[in-house]
Amino acid sequence: MANKKDIIFKNVEKTFGKTKVIEHLDLHIREGERLILLGPSGCGKSTTLRMIAGLETISSGELVMEGKCVNDVPAGKRGVSMVFQNYALYPHMTVRDNICYALKAHKEEKEEIEKRLQMVLKIFGLETYVNRKPKELSGGQRQRVALARALVKRSPYLLLDEPLSNLDAQLRLQARKELVKVHQYYHQTFIYVTHDQVEAMTLGNRIALMREGKLMMLDTPYNVYHRPANVFTAKFIGSPA
Ligand code: ADP
Ligand code: MG
Repeated sequence: MANKKDIIFKNVEKTFGKTKVIEHLDLHIREGERLILLGPSGCGKSTTLRMIAGLETISSGELVMEGKCVNDVPAGKRGVSMVFQNYALYPHMTVRDNICYALKAHKEEKEEIEKRLQMVLKIFGLETYVNRKPKELSGGQRQRVALARALVKRSPYLLLDEPLSNLDAQLRLQARKELVKVHQYYHQTFIYVTHDQVEAMTLGNRIALMREGKLMMLDTPYNVYHRPANVFTAKFIGSPA
C-alpha cells in the first residue's frame, strides 16, 4: 500500500552523456521513514537524491511523489529541503538570517518565524551564535546552522547528502542524536546519503545499499547486517561470516 507522501522510483535510469549511472532503479520510500542511501563513492547516491530534489532530470522511467509523476516538476514545487555536504550558507548573513531567510521569503508570520527559530536554535545549541556570520563559526557550528536552516521549513521531505562528513567523531555522534530527535518531532521523510556503514546502521529505519548504479539490498539495518542478500552487502557492511 502506498501512502500519499511516499516517493516511488519506477524503473528509473539516469545517464550522463553515454554513461549510465543509475540502472533500473525500483525503490519505494515510505512516508515518514528515515531511509539511508548507502554505498561506496561514485555508486550514484547523490544522483539519486538530486533526482528527488529535482536537481537532476530523469533519463527514463518515472519518479512518483504525492501520487503523481514528477519527472517534469521543478525543484521549487516538490516540497523538499536539502542539506549539502559543503553547507552552502549565505556568507554575508547572520545565523538568524540564514535560518529565517526562506521563511521570510514565504511570508510566514513574524511570531511563527521567531518561534521556529528559537526551537531549532535550541535543538542544535546555537542560541548564543544567532548574530554571528558563518566565517565566525567553527565547521561543526556551520554544519548545525545548515541543518537548522533546512529543518525550520518543516518540508515534508528532508534530503541530506553526507551532512556530517566534515565533523569530527564526537560532534558527528551528537549530531546523529539530534537528527533522530528532530525526526521524532516532525515526522518528516528523511532521505540520508552516506558511505559510512556505522552512520547508516544507527540512523536508518531502512538502508538502501547501492553499487555501481544498482540497488543491491533494501531492508532494515538488522536484516542488512544479519541477513545480507548477497556477498557485496555482507562485505560492505562487515557482517559476521
Ligand atoms: P556518490 O554520491 O554515490 O558518490 P554520484 O551520484 O555523485 O555518486 O555519482 C555517480 C556517478 O555519476 C559517478 O560515476 C559520477 O562520476 C557520475 N556523475 C555524477 N554527476 C555527474 C555529472 N554532472 N556529469 C557526469 N557524470 C556525473
Ligand atoms: Mg555523493
